[in-house]
Amino acid sequence: MHRFRADCIIVSADRFIRGGTLVVDDGLVRDVVHTHQATVDREFRGCIIAPGLVNAHCHLDLSLFPPAARVNHRGDFFAWLREVIAYRRRASLDELTEAVRAGVNECLRYGVVAVGDVTTLGLPPASWHPLRGVLFGELLGTTAARIEEVKRRARCWLEAATAAANRRRHDRHISLSPHAPYSTATELYRWAARQCPTEPLTTHLLELPDEAELLIDPPSTHNSLVTLLQHYGAWHPEQLWTLPALFRFLAETPSRWIAAHANYVQPAQLRPLAERICVAYCPRTHAAFGHVRHPCRALLDAGIAVAIATDSKASAPNLSLLVEAQTALVRDRLEPTAVFRMITQVPAAALGLKRSGTLAPGAHADFIVVQPPGPIEDPIRSLLEPASRILATFIAGQAVYDLEAGT
Ligand SMILES: [Zn+2]
Repeated sequence: MHRFRADCIIVSADRFIRGGTLVVDDGLVRDVVHTHQATVDREFRGCIIAPGLVNAHCHLDLSLFPPAARVNHRGDFFAWLREVIAYRRRASLDELTEAVRAGVNECLRYGVVAVGDVTTLGLPPASWHPLRGVLFGELLGTTAARIEEVKRRARCWLEAATAAANRRRHDRHISLSPHAPYSTATELYRWAARQCPTEPLTTHLLELPDEAELLIDPPSTHNSLVTLLQHYGAWHPEQLWTLPALFRFLAETPSRWIAAHANYVQPAQLRPLAERICVAYCPRTHAAFGHVRHPCRALLDAGIAVAIATDSKASAPNLSLLVEAQTALVRDRLEPTAVFRMITQVPAAALGLKRSGTLAPGAHADFIVVQPPGPIEDPIRSLLEPASRILATFIAGQAVYDLEAGT
């Protein structure tokens, strides 16, 4: 049994205990009690203990993407995408694995304990240790030959990765991610849903205005996205969804989905599948590309789950989920408790991580220790202060990042 005390323990967005002690047993939260009696293993004065953060959408294999190539074309999405494609083509599996490890370390430093990570097929799940979450192998292709090849590689990875992920012990799951409706054949969406019937799936959705224009019948050909796809020999509109067909498919299949970005989605399009979809909004990436205002407020008002995420280091300067949350707080004028849910409970639920996103008894003892700049009046506001510092991150009651200890 281990005990951790802080000035305030945030159990969830709706509950906090001042002067509380977190009692941990066998990697799980046993209790959060209000007592000064018992001796404790660690005491964090002037600090808040909060649930570890959950990042619903990232690409850790881009964590070593050259900073000079990061959104440096005044937000020109297509120039940027060419850089990302070139990087992916030249990076070996070993280099991408090393990038995942660098990304994992950065997550721990920023208090992230679980991820929804879209990744290259073939990477070994052990590289994500000790993070929990769902690793989504990415599927991409529109030609018949490419579709078969992608299925073959995905089948091998699913089999090997599922065996290695140790789902029960680490709460680390394996699933698939059809990349986007403009780049990935309808067949790969259907196939992914059949392969992973019990795990969530994810896709990039309506990230660009060009996408909505392209996914109509017949598609617009005077479109920058079409030019890009033609450049790579990947423009095969007969293999792609129209938007109504895609939303019908999402509504009719029983799968749960995380829709990354959804910058140009309308709440009415997602309402029929509100129970099974969560939008992953990436505020700094959204800002870097100069999109119109994100519909997150309208989506929340329509009862659709929205999580805050980082996307990758190809478009964000780092993997700090707290900075993303602070950005959304200011840009989108969201309530602090709503923002806190969007980096804890909401993404945990979307990823199917029942023991994450809260410190209620029975949850994983995954928590962060945050030192706010001043007195703690409103704990969630204090946590979201730009000057707040993450001093330590714990997973299963063990320190995986400790600023004071220098690890
Ligand atoms: Zn992404």
